[in-house]
Amino acid sequence: MRKVLITGGSRGIGKATAEKFRSCGYEVEAPTRQELNLTDKASIAAYVEKHRDTYFDVIVNNAGSNDIHEIEDITDEEIEQMTALNLIAPIKLIRGFAGKMKENRYGRIVNIGSIWAVVSKPGRCVYSATKNGIHGVTNTMAVELAPYNILVNTVCPGFTMTEMTKKNNTPEQIEELSREIPMQRLAEPGEMAEVIYFLCSEQNTYLTGQKITVDGGFSEK
Ligand code: NAP
Repeated sequence: MRKVLITGGSRGIGKATAEKFRSCGYEVEAPTRQELNLTDKASIAAYVEKHRDTYFDVIVNNAGSNDIHEIEDITDEEIEQMTALNLIAPIKLIRGFAGKMKENRYGRIVNIGSIWAVVSKPGRCVYSATKNGIHGVTNTMAVELAPYNILVNTVCPGFTMTEMTKKNNTPEQIEELSREIPMQRLAEPGEMAEVIYFLCSEQNTYLTGQKITVDGGFSEK
């Protein structure tokens, strides 16, 4: 049975992705924040050490956060926290588990980027930096790991109906956003899960190093 590690599996896109993998017969490891706190160096180190003999076939670096502030209002804490969660933690998890994937000569990794790594909007400086950064990780990992049959991609979700979106937008703003999206609605988390699953499945045999934007046409306008 193939084994997948998914971060941020408690809700939103991560939860839908965990459900998709489970329904397709994968063994899903989706640690809670208590088991793996991605902004805590020691927690990541302990988690990697605890699972050092585990062969994960798939890693989905999904957990992320998005604090929106224009440049003068960004705090040091926000910079450090978002960078730790959205960029540094995925690098450390790949570093921790790529060795076993290489031994197995099989692996699939999806890093979750964002529409804000494709187009921009005021207030997204740090978030966009981390999400563009994670695609840099994808680029390098794709070329470094391809000889071992490990495929690495970034999925960039557009506006998706999750707690993150509800926290950052009022219901009126969500209504307004829907009108700006060619598909005339936000995405459901399950729609992201389908794309993530395909990229991580055995059906994907050659697609690597890509940034796949799933935004209902938003960035094409
Ligand atoms: P969400 O509903 O806010 O859920 C975030 C997940 O990350 C939760 O499971 C949360 O766990 C986990 N998490 C946060 N901080 C953590 C930490 N320090 N350690 C471990 N886990 C932590 O997010 P979402 O909307 O599903 O977004 C998922 C991914 O998609 C993120 O990378 C986000 O940037 C990206 N994205 C989302 C949208 C969108 O419209 N929603 C658009 C573009 C990109 P807890 O339950 O413990 O808090």
